Amino acid sequence: MFDINNLIRENIRRLVPYSSARDEFQGEDAIFLDANENPYNTTLNRYPDPRQIRLKQTIAAIKNVPADKIFLGNGSDEAIDLLIRAFCEPGTDNIVSIKPTYGMYKVCADINNVEFREVLLTADFQPDTAQLLKMSDANSKLLFLCSPNNPTSNSLNKNDVVRLIEEFPGLVIIDEAYIDFSTTESFAGLLDRYPNLVILQTFSKAWGMAGVRLGMAFAAKEIIAVLNRIKYPYNINILTQRTALERLNDTASKDKWISMIIKQRDYLARELAKLPMVKRVLPSDANFLMARFDNPREIFAYLTAKKIIVRDRSKVSLCEGFLRITVGTEAENLALISALQQY
Ligand code: PMP
Repeated sequence: MFDINNLIRENIRRLVPYSSARDEFQGEDAIFLDANENPYNTTLNRYPDPRQIRLKQTIAAIKNVPADKIFLGNGSDEAIDLLIRAFCEPGTDNIVSIKPTYGMYKVCADINNVEFREVLLTADFQPDTAQLLKMSDANSKLLFLCSPNNPTSNSLNKNDVVRLIEEFPGLVIIDEAYIDFSTTESFAGLLDRYPNLVILQTFSKAWGMAGVRLGMAFAAKEIIAVLNRIKYPYNINILTQRTALERLNDTASKDKWISMIIKQRDYLARELAKLPMVKRVLPSDANFLMARFDNPREIFAYLTAKKIIVRDRSKVSLCEGFLRITVGTEAENLALISALQQY
């Protein structure tokens, strides 16, 4: 039987969390003399709700995940860091992941002095499940997967992922930052079946809110409770909570952006493939495209000189020669294609 208590670091299990004024009294219509705030209304003079109850209820309805299975962080990056700090004993435990993938998993592991074991994806950018499991041992607390994966832009095979969730000894985290651009289903539907599954999503991509810094983790409520115990008390500020609540009313805009971005992605992929210097364009389930060039450094410098900035991924394992291009507006994509045509 899976028991989260066997995975939590000893000091975190024993931790008495900080209890803020807003934890100890919740309610609205009162004279608040408990948090040493300035009483004069600036609209920002009060601390934010540390539990983000309204925001979580709104997200719960949109995502079809109960509020007690949702953690909100200062970007998904906060959830990545807190998962490592909650479950990985520095110098002893380890994390397993795929390679290449989003760089923050390794950076957070390094900051926390936790060994990071990477297993190269297969030639078709799928997880090598046998090798990932072989690399895992009793001290492997977390497995980070990313689907659709950054930078390879593909979704991971469901059967491989399910096998990993079933056989990996610790928590399996699936980062779904790009899920809104994919035709494959979210793994969030498996949360009730797997108590060791954590899904990360973000408002930075499809929802157009990278600037507010708001990321989500979905997991069994026991896992969410651990993250809530160790987060900064007021980790999601009032401006973020307020703006997100407003923007979440407007799912129509989000849906429109997704369909425009997907349409533009397909246009960009077709146009890039026509260019003689483009050797390959990877199929994409995300809001970016990977295009391979014989001379990626020169193309990158040429585009930068024209003030068109893409990401050079040409030195990344399995992505040699590739530039990563975010899908822009129609006008931006036209400018990119026309610059490359003139090269
Ligand atoms: N996960 C992946 C796979 C990403 O590519 C990114 C951003 N590049 C993030 C997470 C970061 O998300 P957030 O803005 O929510 O911290």
